[in-house]
Amino acid sequence: MRKPHRAEAPRPSRRGAKAGRVAVLSTGTELLRGRSTDTNLASIARALETIGLEVSYHATAPDDLDRLVEEIRLASARAEIVILTGGLGPTEDDFTRRAAAEAYGRELVFRPSAWNAIRSRFRRFRIPMAAINRRQAFLPRGARILPNPNGSAPGFVVESAGRFFFALPGPPREMVPMLQRQVLPRLAAAIGGKPRFKLWEARVFGMPEGTVDEIVRHVVARRPGASYGLTVSGGTVNITLRVERGSPLPMVRALRRKLGLFLVGPKSLEETVGDLLLRRGKTIALAESCTGGLISHKLTNVAGISAALLEACVCYSNRSKISRLGVPAPTIRRHGAVSAEVAAAMAEGAARTAGADVGVAVTGIAGPSGGSKKKPVGLAWHAVHYRGRTRAERGVFPGDRMAIKERAAHFALDLVRRALSE
Ligand code: AMP
Ligand code: MG
Repeated sequence: MRKPHRAEAPRPSRRGAKAGRVAVLSTGTELLRGRSTDTNLASIARALETIGLEVSYHATAPDDLDRLVEEIRLASARAEIVILTGGLGPTEDDFTRRAAAEAYGRELVFRPSAWNAIRSRFRRFRIPMAAINRRQAFLPRGARILPNPNGSAPGFVVESAGRFFFALPGPPREMVPMLQRQVLPRLAAAIGGKPRFKLWEARVFGMPEGTVDEIVRHVVARRPGASYGLTVSGGTVNITLRVERGSPLPMVRALRRKLGLFLVGPKSLEETVGDLLLRRGKTIALAESCTGGLISHKLTNVAGISAALLEACVCYSNRSKISRLGVPAPTIRRHGAVSAEVAAAMAEGAARTAGADVGVAVTGIAGPSGGSKKKPVGLAWHAVHYRGRTRAERGVFPGDRMAIKERAAHFALDLVRRALSE
C-alpha cells in the first residue's frame, strides 16, 4: 500500500534560493477556461534562463481564495522561489494579497506609500478613483513593494530565510517590466550571481528533425551535465543545449562542423538574412505569388532593413508576372505559373526592375484546391538571383494555406541566406 501523502510531502531546502527551485503560479479563471493564454509562464521561464534558473513547478489556480491559499502553500513546499502572477487588481475576485497573507500567516497591513503611488497614477491619467482601489494598498506584513510604472497594482515580495514569494500583476505589459527590473536582479543576487547552467541556442533549416536529433545526440552523448532539447516550427528546428559544468564551446564547435550550412545561427531566418544583406552592403527585391507578401512582412520586421530592401511585389496573376516582372508569356504557357522557369524569371525580373543585387521569388499552390497529380497542393518553386546566377528549388509542404505560406517564405529566405553565405 502507498504511504499517506503527508509522508512524501516535499520540503523546502535550508539553502533557500541557492537551491534554485522555482515555482510559477498563474492565477485567473479565464486561463483555465481558455479565454486567455498563459504567456506569463513562458516569459518568466525564458527570463529566468538568462540568470541560470529553471521553473520546476507550475500550476494555474482559479480566482478562488481557498484554492489560491492551497496552491501557494503547495508551491512554497516545492520550491524556494515562488512567482505568482495575477489577482492584484482591486475587484472582488482579486485574491492574491489575501491568499498570500493567509498562506504565510501574516496579516494584511495598509501601506501609505503604495496608496500614494496608486493615487498619483490615477491623478496623472485623470482616471476617477473608486473606493475599492484602496484595497490594492493592503499588503502582507513585512512585504516589500515592487513599483508598477505601467499599471495601478503594485507588486510585492515576501522574503524570509532566503526564500522568496513574488506577486506580480497579470497583464503581460505590466508583469514583464517588473520581472526584468525587480525580480531578476534580486534573484541573481540571492543565488550568488552564479548561474546553475549555461545555454546555447541555435536554429537549423532544411534538415529533418530526426537527422538533427541524431547529430546533436551524438555530440552531447557522454558529456557529463550536458543535455539538449529540440523544437520545430515552420520547418525550422531549434536546438537548446544546456551544460551544468564547464563550457558548451567544444560541443558548439562540433555542431557547427556537422551541421555546416544547415546551421542558421541564433537568430530567425529573416534576421539572419537582414544581417547578411546589411553586412555585405547588398540590396534585395522580392517577387511573391503564393506567399502574398509574407516574406516582405518578415523582412520588414527587421530593424534597419530599409538600407537593403528596395521593393516587394505581390504578383499574383499571370498578367502581373508578365507586366511587372517581365516574365515571358510563353514561359508561363509552356511550364505553368508554378514552375522552376517562372520562379527563376520572377527572381531575375524582381532584381532587374528594382535594380537590386538580389532577387527572390516564390510561386506555389497554397490550396486547398488547384492541385493536380503532377503539381500537388503545397508545391512551391523558390528562386534566388544573385551575381548573375539564378537558382531555383522546389519544396512540397504539408498543412493548410497559412502553414504552406509560412514554409515557402522560410524556404525562400533560406535560399537567400545560403546564396549570401557562399
Ligand atoms: P489580473 O491581474 O489577474 O486582473 O489579470 C489581468 C489580465 O491579465 C487578465 O485579464 C489577463 O488578460 C492577463 N493575464 C493574467 N494572467 C496572465 C497570464 N498568466 N498570461 C497572460 N496574461 C495574463
Ligand atoms: Mg485575474
